[in-house]
Amino acid sequence: MKVKNKFSSPLWNDSLLASNAFKEIKKLVSQIYSETGETIKFMEVCGTHTMAIAASGMRKFFPPELKMLSGPGCPVCVTSQGDIDRILEIAAIEDVIITTFGDMMRVKGSLGRDLHSMREAGADIRVLYSPLDALRIASENKNKKIVFIGVGFETTAPIIAQTVFHAHDKKINNFFITPLFKLVPPALKAVLSNDRHKISGFILPGHVSVIIGAKSYDFVARKHKVPCVVAGFEPMDIISGINMLLLQIQNGASKVETEYFRAVKMEGNKSAQAIMKKVFKIASAQWRAIGSIEKSGLILSDAFKRFDAFKYFKIRHYSSKEPKGCICGKIIMGQALPEDCRFFGKKCTPSDAIGPCMVSSEGACAAWFKYGG
Ligand code: SF4
Repeated sequence: MKVKNKFSSPLWNDSLLASNAFKEIKKLVSQIYSETGETIKFMEVCGTHTMAIAASGMRKFFPPELKMLSGPGCPVCVTSQGDIDRILEIAAIEDVIITTFGDMMRVKGSLGRDLHSMREAGADIRVLYSPLDALRIASENKNKKIVFIGVGFETTAPIIAQTVFHAHDKKINNFFITPLFKLVPPALKAVLSNDRHKISGFILPGHVSVIIGAKSYDFVARKHKVPCVVAGFEPMDIISGINMLLLQIQNGASKVETEYFRAVKMEGNKSAQAIMKKVFKIASAQWRAIGSIEKSGLILSDAFKRFDAFKYFKIRHYSSKEPKGCICGKIIMGQALPEDCRFFGKKCTPSDAIGPCMVSSEGACAAWFKYGG
């Protein structure tokens, strides 16, 4: 018998609805567990979901047979140590102004320094809310080279593509980016290729899906037979998404559903896709602790490659060495939880972080530290 999802309202403050939702989840988990005898492991791929789950405290209402694992969806966390070192090398060049989103400021390179400490030591490093502001800085500082730190997923890539296109159009020649963008679908493939940690279902990222469209995950449901739900970021969105995944499992289905239908279309945002296609091309990318994943990143296309800061400054590739003892790589692949790390909350805290999962405002370790597991 097909069972319908009853909880598609984005309300969390409706305590009756929430309590009914948890009852339903407990019932479904118990039914599935009694049939399979296996713990249900759902992965929330996006760092914003990781934070929302921790902040709402919803985990404590889940039965022990349901586990929520974090995935490779925190942009700062997946940027390889080698790429962080390359960014810091550019920041040390004399006539460079680094412009960046705030999350990158405290990610340490392999020598223990970060953008924050380099700024204190005199480097010109500025935190921006929009990459477009970097173009203004470029126009005001013609004798300097302005480098915007381009990391992130399909959510961030379109606005940075637009910025590069604008710089090209306006012939702004002292503006560059570090093209280190990552793509979510190939990361899911990498997670699924690891059989030891069988994922029962994915809560897929709402923001990324606004751009790429829900149909981009068809291969997960069809080929790998893993249920998928694109969810929004309110606690009740996530609860509803979990409920939808459980219903798929109970009904023997594996398909891509959208709980976040108020923002996500199957086809995604065609204009954003078009500007990304114009400015970037798909290439292999280095992921922290995972290594190179084929066709999992975006670099500048031939027509825009002069904006590549690594090429302009002739920055070599560094081999990626993780901070000793940090298990961020395992955490972002759903193979460990923050509490499994011996440094968690002791040697590693948000004010003195060892790895990026504790630095980033979307990192799993930061979420567990701030709100508890
Ligand atoms: S607690 Fe710190 S050292 Fe441990 S995995 Fe998280 S970021 Fe790395």
